This record gives sequence, structure tokens and C-alpha cells, in this order.
Amino acid sequence: MAGLSCARMLADAGHAPVVFDKSRGVGGRLATRRAGALRFDHGAQFVTARGADFRAYLAEHAAPWQPADAPEGWHVGTPAMNALVKPMAAGLDIRLGSEVALERHASGWRVGKDRFERLISTVPVVQARVLFPEMIEALASVEVAPCYTLMVAFGTAPNWPEMARSRDGDLAWIARNSAKPGRGTEPDCWVVHASPDWSTAHLELEKKEACQRLLDLLRTARGPLPEVTHAAAHRWRYAMTTVPLGRDFAQSEDGSLLVGGDWCLGARVENAWTSGRAMAAALLSR
Ligand SMILES: Cc1cc2nc3c(=O)[nH]c(=O)nc-3n(C[C@H](O)[C@H](O)[C@H](O)COP(=O)(O)OP(=O)(O)OC[C@H]3O[C@@H](n4cnc5c(N)ncnc54)[C@H](O)[C@@H]3O)c2cc1C
Repeated sequence: MAGLSCARMLADAGHAPVVFDKSRGVGGRLATRRAGALRFDHGAQFVTARGADFRAYLAEHAAPWQPADAPEGWHVGTPAMNALVKPMAAGLDIRLGSEVALERHASGWRVGKDRFERLISTVPVVQARVLFPEMIEALASVEVAPCYTLMVAFGTAPNWPEMARSRDGDLAWIARNSAKPGRGTEPDCWVVHASPDWSTAHLELEKKEACQRLLDLLRTARGPLPEVTHAAAHRWRYAMTTVPLGRDFAQSEDGSLLVGGDWCLGARVENAWTSGRAMAAALLSR
């Protein structure tokens, strides 16, 4: 979200940004896992807007999702969460599957074989510290927490609330993915997020073992489970910013490097959008 919101704004102003992403598709943590006919949004679950620009963007490119007990204004991408970034990707030079190797040179940056005057990075903060040692001090205050996620499908739909959140239990989130708009209701797919504390304590578990433990936690929370037809776990090492940078982005002394992402402002998709656009605006105003 941060990278594409930035690139879109630069391209709309007549520049020719090149976007490198190590993944096979766009979206980052706005992610959906497929397993045969099954679909799970295993990263961001919903988005909200506080600012007018992002609200307008969601009105055009997202669908409302209003489970019982949720405050008004929740939106999702359809048919998958990364549909939220796809409109911004149209027409951009995007190079997927590119885990970048970076090198400074006299008048800018070398990324693989290409040279650029300016580099904008929106990788998670822990990776930014590794890629850009010169920024370590500026980014030192930022803290992030992991999230272990369970993706589970049942043979028969359990009679549970469509969405439940908890601030103090081991499970922070239990939601019926199939209840979101545009997903298709069969088979019955659920996404469960462990709390930051549980995820931190169990971060190094093998995924299979974590999957079993998460199913046990679900059983404890909900009682006997219907027949489980699919279960898998995903480990998000850098899921949620717990201590943000406190400003839209950071930059190197010579101004050739800008680093941003949701971790600048807090763990929300809108913050990634804001950070990306702020970096584009800063470059355009130079
Ligand atoms: C489990 C979970 C649940 C969440 N729930 C919500 C929610 O309900 N609502 C909400 O608003 N937010 C939620 N969030 C947070 C939200 O997903 C993020 O705030 C937002 O998606 C971050 O966007 P970003 O562009 O800053 O970073 P990312 O989406 O992480 O994008 C970073 C990109 O950098 C790429 N990359 C990394 N390293 C390299 C490299 N070396 N070379 C090239 N590319 C690289 C990655 O592939 C990725 O595409 C959740 C996050 C998680 C993990």
C-alpha cells in the first residue's frame, strides 16, 4: 500500500517510478492465501478511513463489511484484500519477484542493474534497518509485534459470531472469511489471529505445531470444532507496529533515500497510504 500509493502519485505527476517487490504479487500484508478452492485473507482483515482522501478512495475501490458488533466504516477489497491496491498499480513498471540488492553510487542508487537518482523504500522497518545501516539510528525507536495466523476450513459452518475480537485473550481475532462480501460462502473459511503476546512467545514454533496449538486455542474458546477440512498457520514476523516513528517518513542526510511504510504512523492500512503519499509529495515539492 505504501509503495504503490507513492508510485501512483509520482506517475500521475509525470514521473516514471519503477517498483520492485520481492513477492510474486502486489499487496504486501494486504494478502490472501489460496488453497485449492479456499481463500483466506490472512493479513489485514479490514480497512477504515479517518482522512477524506482515503475515504474517497475506499468509496470507489472497496466494499463495506459490517459484521455485528463492529463499528461503522469497515471496508474490504473484493474478491481479495489486494484488490485495494490494484487500481493504483495499473500502468506502472512493477518488477515482482525482485528481492532488491542495493548499492549507493556517486549520484544515487543502483538497484540490480538499474541506476536511480532517488530511492524510496517501504519495506517493514526491521528490514529497512538491515538494508540501510545509515538509517538505523533514525529508526531505532520503532517497535513491531508478530502475529501467528490460523487459516481453517470446516465441513459444516459453525454457529459462531461472524467476527469476534479480544484484547486480553490468546486469540485476538476470529472471523468468518467467507462472510466478507464477494468471497463465496462455500467452503466455510475462518481466519484466526493469535494475540501479540502469544505470537511472540511461540514465534519459533514450526508452522505445523503452531497450527495444532492454534486449533487447541480455538477449541478452548469455542468448544468442540466441526470437521476440520483444512488448517494451516502463517507466521507474520513484522505484523503490527506497536511503537511508530511518529512522522510520515524518514530520509537520509543527502535526501536521496526516503523510507516509509505503516510503521511510521501505526498499524493501519491507511497509515501506509499516508506515508507513501507523503514521500511522493516531498519529492514532488523539491
Ligand atoms: C495479521 C495482520 C492483520 C492486520 N490487520 C489489519 C487490519 O485489520 N486493518 C488494518 O488497517 N491493518 C491491518 N494490518 C496492518 C496492515 O496490513 C499494514 O498496516 C499495511 O498493509 C502495511 O502496508 P505497507 O505498504 O506499509 O507494508 P507491507 O504491506 O508489508 O509491504 C511491504 C512490501 O515490501 C516488500 N519487501 C520486503 N522486503 C523486500 C526486499 N528486500 N526487496 C523487495 N521488496 C521487499 C514486501 O514483499 C511487501 O510487498 C494487519 C497486518 C497483519 C500482518
